Amino acid sequence: MRIIDPSFHILDELEEQSLEVRIEYCGRICYKSEERIDAGSAAPFVRKMLQHQHNSVLEMAVLSLQVECRDTGAIQALFACMPRFLQIDRLAGTSLLVTGSIRAFRELWQECHQEVIPQAICCFLLAQHPLFFEDLQPKIMPVLLSGISVRKVPLGEVNSLPVALQAKHRFLAVRFVVNRAVTHELVRHRPCSFLQESQRYCRYSSDRFGNEVTFIRPLFYKEGSPEFELWEQSMKICEHNYLRLLGTSSPQAARSVLPNSCKTEIIVYANISQWQHILQLRTSPAADPSMREVMLPLQAELTTRYPMHFTHPL
Ligand SMILES: Cc1cc2nc3c(=O)[nH]c(=O)nc-3n(C[C@H](O)[C@H](O)[C@H](O)COP(=O)(O)OP(=O)(O)OC[C@H]3O[C@@H](n4cnc5c(N)ncnc54)[C@H](O)[C@@H]3O)c2cc1C
Repeated sequence: MRIIDPSFHILDELEEQSLEVRIEYCGRICYKSEERIDAGSAAPFVRKMLQHQHNSVLEMAVLSLQVECRDTGAIQALFACMPRFLQIDRLAGTSLLVTGSIRAFRELWQECHQEVIPQAICCFLLAQHPLFFEDLQPKIMPVLLSGISVRKVPLGEVNSLPVALQAKHRFLAVRFVVNRAVTHELVRHRPCSFLQESQRYCRYSSDRFGNEVTFIRPLFYKEGSPEFELWEQSMKICEHNYLRLLGTSSPQAARSVLPNSCKTEIIVYANISQWQHILQLRTSPAADPSMREVMLPLQAELTTRYPMHFTHPL
């Protein structure tokens, strides 16, 4: 067995990559199959996710669009169909700023395809990113919509938005390596997107996991103390039984003996406004100490990178 410290990594550099590269990078965390990433692997990976309806993987790439529309009736119709999981703001004049994940835009088409603004948005997306939209039913057909134009807003422009708008339209992904109790708490934050290492698919007896289970060092017990020794002994027993069960059963069956201390990787993807909410709750003295162990340094790092949105922990 292996014991490691918890950690986090802000995935800023990932936001600079293409949509499919971002989706593949995040999606492979579930299977811990990152070693299969190469120059041509993203598109087949995305197609497989679409085919298997592993839909949350498609939440891991967000893009912003500027929609110009002089027809106020069309804008009212867009709001009336209440698109889910899209951030929509009216900018000056007749302009809308629309931010969402690939999944949210796919569902915009499925639920609101009778309306002209969704038609304009989805025609634009189909032309720019056919991989994500070509399988949709009803098929997206190119239409000539006078008076509506759509353009992609580059990340640099999102970064220059006024602070309040930026907090809603700028998304950040953070990769955590934590114990299973902490991931269980993280996934309670409903407006976020998550992908985590799957104990159903990962077989820790295999070579790529070093034929062992990895645990997160518990901050509650000092190494060498009787409590730490008891914890360590319990982990050894769990690991032993897990590996024995794998001799005759699948990882999804054997995982039933894995404990909360098991190391788990998770990517949390949310806009800045949700990160502010998460940090407020999860750095408080009332929060789980194992959660604070990663959230306090994360807050400090986010404050350094985005001082207009975050403040240093007290
Ligand atoms: C110290 C602490 C102790 C906790 N103890 C427990 C516990 O013992 N048991 C337990 O089950 N949980 C517990 N939790 C989890 C807690 O109840 C929340 O589920 C978790 O913190 C997510 O935060 P949230 O509900 O504020 O918002 P999020 O899910 O992060 O949502 C963000 C915002 O979205 C909106 N929102 C999202 N979904 C809805 C909705 N369905 N209806 C209305 N508004 C919505 C709200 O405006 C909310 O502020 C604890 C959390 C903390 C911090």
